[in-house]
Order: sequence, then C-alpha cells, then structure tokens
Amino acid sequence: MMFRKIHVTGVVQGVGFRPFVYQLATRANLNGWVANTSAGVDIELEGDAAALEAFVRALTAEQPPLAQIDSVDVRDATSNGHAQFNRFEIRASVPLAGAFQPISPDISICPDCLRELFDPHDRRYRYPFINCTNCGPRFTIIEDIPYDRPKTTMRVFEMCDDCAREYHDPLDRRFHAQPVACPKCGPKVWLENDEGRVARGEAIEETQRLLAGGSIVAIKGLGGFHLACDATNADAVAELRRRKLRVDKPFALMMPDVVTVEKHCFVDDAERALLESRERPIVLVRRRPDSPIAEQVAPGNQFLGVMLPYTPLHYLLMTEDGGQKTENNRPSTVFRPPSVLVMTSGNLSEAPIATDNDDARARLAKLADAFLMHDRDIRTRCDDSVMRVFTVVATEDTEKKNQLTPDHYPLRRSRGYAPFPVRLPFDAPPLLATGAELKNTFCITRDRYAFLSHHIGDLENYETLRSF
Ligand SMILES: [Zn+2]
Ligand SMILES: [Zn+2]
Repeated sequence: MMFRKIHVTGVVQGVGFRPFVYQLATRANLNGWVANTSAGVDIELEGDAAALEAFVRALTAEQPPLAQIDSVDVRDATSNGHAQFNRFEIRASVPLAGAFQPISPDISICPDCLRELFDPHDRRYRYPFINCTNCGPRFTIIEDIPYDRPKTTMRVFEMCDDCAREYHDPLDRRFHAQPVACPKCGPKVWLENDEGRVARGEAIEETQRLLAGGSIVAIKGLGGFHLACDATNADAVAELRRRKLRVDKPFALMMPDVVTVEKHCFVDDAERALLESRERPIVLVRRRPDSPIAEQVAPGNQFLGVMLPYTPLHYLLMTEDGGQKTENNRPSTVFRPPSVLVMTSGNLSEAPIATDNDDARARLAKLADAFLMHDRDIRTRCDDSVMRVFTVVATEDTEKKNQLTPDHYPLRRSRGYAPFPVRLPFDAPPLLATGAELKNTFCITRDRYAFLSHHIGDLENYETLRSF
C-alpha cells in the first residue's frame, strides 16, 4: 500500500476538477479524498504503486475542458502499511489565509446545455440561465475565493430538490456547478417598458417583437447590459447612434450562427473557429458589399464586428419562434425576429457599461424603449472581447518558414479571457501596472502570474474612473 499527497495549481476550481478526480480515483480503485483550497486542489491517495502512477499521468492527460493546470506536486507520504481510507470522497473547501488561485473566465453555453435548452422534454427547456460545470458565468458572479456558491451572486437563490440532487452528485455534470439553477428555483427574466412588466413566459418573445418593430431594447447579459436593435433597419440603427451620442464608432453585431455570418461577411477558417470558440469574442470580419446590414452600423468601415450568441438567453432571442408553441399548439410567432442584431454596450458615449438593474433604469432610460431584465446580479462588469485574425509569416519554425499562419490579435481582451493570467517564466515581485488613459486595462503580478484586468475603458469620466 502506497500513499501520495498531490497539490495541483492553475485554473482548477469551478471547472469540474473535483468530480474529474473523483471519477479517476474510483475508476482506479484508489481511496482518499480531494478538496479545494484557496491555493488550488489538494488530493490524498492510497493504493498500489502502478495505479497511483497511472492516476498522476491521467490527471494532466485527461483534464476537464476548462481546466488549466499550471503545476502538479506529488509527494510520497509515509505510510504505516495500514489503509487509512476506506473510500474516495470529496471534502469541503478549505480556505487558507494568504493563498490564492486563478479563477475561470465566463464561458459560453456548452453543446450539452444547448441541447437541453431546446429539448421540450427537459426540465430546463427554454430556461435562459441553464449552465453546467463546463459552461456559464464565473468571473462576473464571483465575490470571493474559494469559488463556492455562497461566495457568488447566486447565493440568494436557494436550490430546489432537483437542482440540489444534481449539485451533490459527483457523477452528475452539474456536480458543484455553482450557478446551477432551473425555472423553479433560479433567476428569472422579465421585460419592462412604460406599460409595466411583462410575464416571464412572454418576455423573450415580446422582446423579439419589439426588435422586429424597430425598437431599441436594453438587454441584461453576462457582464453588463447591451443595447440591441435590428441591424438591417437603417432608421433604428440611426436612432440608436443619435441616442448614444456616437458619431461613427462601429456597433458590434450578434448573429445566430456562422451560416448567417457568411451571408453578410467573408469568413475564413481561422475566423470561423474563433467565432465558434468557447470564448465567443467579437471578431472583425470583412463585410460583403451586398449585405443588407445598415451602413450606419459601421460607417465607412469595410469590417464588421460580429459575435455569436454566448448565453442561453441570447440563443432564445436569436431563435425564430424560440421553439415555443402556444396552448393550442400553433407556433405563437407571427413575425420573424431579426437575424442580425446590433449588440452594443449599454452605456452613453464613453461611460462604463451598466450592470445593475437600477443603474440601468436610470442611465439607459433615454437610450432604450424597453428593458429585458433579470435578477442574477453582476458582480464584476465585463465587456465583450474584440479579436482580429491576422495572417502572419512564420519566421522561427523552419518547417513552416514562409508559410502563412493565422494569429489571433486581441484588440480588447475582456469577457471569455479575463481574468485568466499570463504565466511568467520567473517569479515576479508584486507589481501594479495601471495602464493608459484610453482603453484602459491594468495588471497585477503575483508569483508567476500576471493578472490582466478586463477592459475598463477610457478614464475620461468619473464613472469609468470609479470602475477602474
Ligand atoms: Zn453546460
Ligand atoms: Zn432548481
């Protein structure tokens, strides 16, 4: 009988790492435990030497999709020859004073959750906040580490029995998925306008109807509010530009899928992959001259900034008839929702993007005709990221020399990427770099990590300075 103590660092919390370890250990008949600490994940194991060795190999080789392991420290621990454990278990998180570990960025809805979203037999059918261990909000809802539900803005929602069962089952893909929720117990959406509040069952469809009719709607998202309108409606786009006091800065667009993007823009393989990546940034792509998208979206610019839906709410908004049927089983939609939406940040000119419901009501009242609200609070504001694919000539790799390879160029590194750190090749003293006045981001170093902040914006007004 051998005994090992293993310490893992990196992005290993909130990404399904403990259930992964649990399955790996039980598969290999190893006993012991796994726990989150503020410094990473601790594991103690006992079993025979070959099984322990295979476990350590599999730990990095098979890690869950969102995990980013930085180090695995394995120590032989002395054993008195007798078994100390009679099973493998997941233990409660242990906060350690002064310790830290990186947290995951927000990740777009995964294929499993997307399938459930549109499955009429699933209990989360059309639920705008569906998520699991492999997807959903992280950075924008976290208040403290270790990453556990009571330390997120989800703490106000008490899990129903069904959600609690999934949350506590190590073999369920929602095991310790901190934002887990369902229509019975979780956050809700509603639409507000001058006539009051629309019931949640109709809120999304009513939003589609307003957008199709040329209205401008403020939509609460993952890291803040967007202002949305039909991108092919020149009057609506011009009106949004007038209200936002934006003379010619381009508006970002959201389209339901790559097929739609290809109707309006030229898209190569690298751009397609980036559009569909789980980070879901805004990607700058060249506009087709015959696209019916209003010129006012990006005046005088041959590029359009396009992103695909990244939350379940976006998917519902961009789906024709949303799969919803009325009681007599006829499709309830008698209009086509816009297939291309302007989705620009919910702010006036250069002010920070609105995140809080009351703040949005106050600051966006003159900009939006209606508000699609929800009651999951946003702890940290986070704008959409903006990326461009450049084709570069490889110079270092002799094999690929003179070959053209695509490279991602971040114009704004924010949602989907922040606060994922840059790993340094050396230990750095604690440093704070405060960035520039325009397009500000800041950076803090600790040990081998350089943590780059999300996009803060131009520090020319009081609100942005406060946000900074
Ligand atoms: Zn998921
Ligand atoms: Zn529930």
